[in-house]
Amino acid sequence: MRDTRLHLDQPLEAGVALALDAAATHYLRAVLRARAGHRLRVFNARDGEWRARLTGLERHAGTLEVEDRLRPATPEPGPTLLFAPLKKGHLDWLLEKATELGVARLQPVRCRHGVVEGAKPERLEQRIVEAVEQSERLSVPALLPEADLAAAVEAQPDGVVMADEAGGAALLPTLAAHPAAALLVGPEGGFSAEERAALRRTANVFPVSLGPTILRAETAALMLLACHRAGMTETAPR
Ligand code: SAH
Repeated sequence: MRDTRLHLDQPLEAGVALALDAAATHYLRAVLRARAGHRLRVFNARDGEWRARLTGLERHAGTLEVEDRLRPATPEPGPTLLFAPLKKGHLDWLLEKATELGVARLQPVRCRHGVVEGAKPERLEQRIVEAVEQSERLSVPALLPEADLAAAVEAQPDGVVMADEAGGAALLPTLAAHPAAALLVGPEGGFSAEERAALRRTANVFPVSLGPTILRAETAALMLLACHRAGMTETAPR
């Protein structure tokens, strides 16, 4: 098993002593059964990754000391995913896998056939951070506030590759032609006829097919992200 890796949204530098918040303290105590002296890695996108040592771990308060730097901060470019909110378990899965696959921004969009009741952003953030810690990323993908479908699509500077269950162009050549485009999947109920027509009229929307079977929205998102990543040949080995 890998050692403990903790995302800390505080300035990290050699020799500094940091207080842990309640969630991190609980995780270390109750889940990992760690004690003072436990060694771990702490990181964030600004300061990179550091070796650290727990100096105290009381019931509600933990402290650690940051030691030496293991990895400098490096940019982690990735695509924007536009998705319609899903039911709880499906959404958790989508966020976890999208984070593993390197998504940079997660933009929920309101669709006609989408799920209305919104999940708590704090809980979703927590899922995302756990996936960041597990997957050796430094950066936490941004979970943006829900936006209207049309407005969110218009706001993408490099266009949108749209997974359209009604059919479209071949995925791989489209991704290759628009590597900086955002990726869009519809809700479990699919795009409405009006949404599809409006999207297809919008300049810089590139509809693609994901094949002859109908995929769950989260599977479709994963396929887009996986194929997008497969086209990024500059990714260095760890
Ligand atoms: N209820 C719809 C399916 C929605 S699937 C129906 O029965 O037709 C949810 C979303 O996943 C879709 O809006 C689309 O973005 C994506 N998707 C699923 N299967 C797809 C496919 N074969 N090609 C392109 N997109 C697909």
